[in-house]
Amino acid sequence: MKNLDKVVVITGASSGIGEATAHLLNEHGMTVVLAARRIDKLNEIIASLPDPSHALAIATDVSKSTEVQNLINQTIEKFGKVDVLFNNAGLMPLAPIRDGKVNEWEAMIDINLKGVLYGINAVLPTMEQQHEGLIITTDSVAGHEVATNGAVYAGTKFAVRAIMDGLRKEEIGKGVRTTLISPGDVETDLFNSTSDSKLRDQIQQIEQTAGLKPMDVAEAVLYAIQQPASVGVNEIIMRSPNQEF
Ligand code: NAD
Repeated sequence: MKNLDKVVVITGASSGIGEATAHLLNEHGMTVVLAARRIDKLNEIIASLPDPSHALAIATDVSKSTEVQNLINQTIEKFGKVDVLFNNAGLMPLAPIRDGKVNEWEAMIDINLKGVLYGINAVLPTMEQQHEGLIITTDSVAGHEVATNGAVYAGTKFAVRAIMDGLRKEEIGKGVRTTLISPGDVETDLFNSTSDSKLRDQIQQIEQTAGLKPMDVAEAVLYAIQQPASVGVNEIIMRSPNQEF
């Protein structure tokens, strides 16, 4: 296994895809900076990593631009650079628009959409200065197709796809690469953010029977990072072969 001397910031690292990615990248010799709101949980994960000496936990709410900027500033202070930002934090409170769950719409827009923008904003000047950097964002198949009861979630994920493609174009010639990863169902805690109990049970059932594993998505992240600076893997769509949507 080739050890990669990279500093990687991972948001939403306290469970699911983010946690699996922290493990896999750390196993490949990378320094991982774990960000989420629960610092205790992040420290527990760090203790279980193959090389905890190459890891740092920073409590971060991605819906607050100052906290995201602090995450990047602290990373640079401690490690002198940031090679990769993995914008991964998200939530998926599914519900029909008719239910008018305004607070949930706002949370999805703040976390899934504005959180990604705050991450890009915080890291871009440094990456341009380095003439090298990779910004990876977890999108979803819901960024490509809209499921019934998933209109607002899909809205945030369609928007994220647009932003990442625009970013790719703006960064041409500046050394910053972009990767959008769009998984189908993945067996994680994401279903818990749906407040409608019937829909929540349905999603959990689908994720458990026809879902990818978080480590499958982590492998896609690793693949994008392992490419040479001359290769941008711009989009990856991945589903379990048992999933239709
Ligand atoms: P998860 O619930 O296990 O992980 C979500 C992570 O985001 C957690 O660490 C959570 O603490 C964090 N988070 C939520 N709000 C936050 C905030 N305000 N600030 C910082 N962190 C916050 O679920 P997951 O499936 O691992 O989700 C990761 C990403 O994958 C999300 O963007 C999600 O939309 C996307 N995704 C998931 C699936 C799936 O089926 N599980 C499919 C496609 C895309």
